[in-house]
Amino acid sequence: MSSKVYFIPAKREDGNEVLAQKAERVFLKTALHEQIENDSFVAIKIHFGEKRNTGYIKPQWIINIIRQIKKITSRVFITDSNTLYVGSRSNSVEHLLLAEEHGFKPEILGIPAIIADGLIGRDDGEIQVNLKHVKSAKVGSLFLNSDAMICLSHFTGHIQSGFGGAIKNLGMGCASRAGKLEQHSDVHPWINSKLCSNCGVCFDYCPAQAIVEKGDKAFIIEDKCIGCGECLVVCSVGAVKFNWDSDSVRVQEKMSEYAYSLRHFFNGRINFINFLIEVTKDCDCMSKDQPAVVEDIGILGSLDPVAIDQASADLVNEKSGKDILRAGYDMDWSVQLEHGVEIGLGSRHYDLIKL
Ligand code: SF4
Ligand code: SF4
Repeated sequence: MSSKVYFIPAKREDGNEVLAQKAERVFLKTALHEQIENDSFVAIKIHFGEKRNTGYIKPQWIINIIRQIKKITSRVFITDSNTLYVGSRSNSVEHLLLAEEHGFKPEILGIPAIIADGLIGRDDGEIQVNLKHVKSAKVGSLFLNSDAMICLSHFTGHIQSGFGGAIKNLGMGCASRAGKLEQHSDVHPWINSKLCSNCGVCFDYCPAQAIVEKGDKAFIIEDKCIGCGECLVVCSVGAVKFNWDSDSVRVQEKMSEYAYSLRHFFNGRINFINFLIEVTKDCDCMSKDQPAVVEDIGILGSLDPVAIDQASADLVNEKSGKDILRAGYDMDWSVQLEHGVEIGLGSRHYDLIKL
């Protein structure tokens, strides 16, 4: 069965006002607003962009979408969850300051920004799914207390999944730190004893008492570790390590399963808007300005995360005249889509409706 994907050509040169109007047109076509009830809590999921990154979706492009939601409910907010790795977005304080620096603030948006998994990434809840890899998805608790979601994704290439679009933004982006660690790694963290100063900070943070002192260094007892990932971000000298899963197939499949859990949770009250503007080789987690790999293409909207990502990948590759997403890291990006079809996340068949 085909899913509808709405598409409007757009480019940076259109300017903020026109881009906001175009995003609004795509948003309205998905008709999500008809599913939102008065006074319900609506989460707008976005990536605020890492420090020094410039490719993220600009706040000025989404203000008309916000205005449409505010006609129905005032309980709308913009959100993301904290990162697994140490950086400018690993706790809510620094994350919100960076969001504000990038313009995601009430003076521009008219709504607050809230971090989805609490001050230090501990506030999560679970969605039972019983899929191939993921039995219970660990996501920011804010999502579980929301009634509807608008998933705004900047479509880019990605080092672990070939590309990152709606599936990645939903699956990885809404996961708590423990959920991100589950998707990114098949083994628990470990401590590099050469770097550890035995300061004891991680001992206090570990909720499972899995870290002990061994030979004047910290040591993680694997059997006790519950994979929450807290030790990764509290160690100021970077002594806590984890192995990024090099198996892209497994990472992509887990990502699709996490995305499934959230889509299932919102039960029809979620839509997806992909921005194919400043499509870069790497995602917005990169702390740098990156050149675009293709000319700007436009804005897409759909109720189906698989269909919108398939359409986005097709448009990007058509524009560049080759599989430029594969050229980035020689990775089969279709795994996330195919696994998405297998588990009922969506359809790779779509009708592209040009606005
Ligand atoms: S926080 Fe880092 S340096 Fe301190 S004990 Fe733990 S691993 Fe060692
Ligand atoms: S991942 Fe969590 S449970 Fe495991 S050692 Fe680190 S803090 Fe403790």
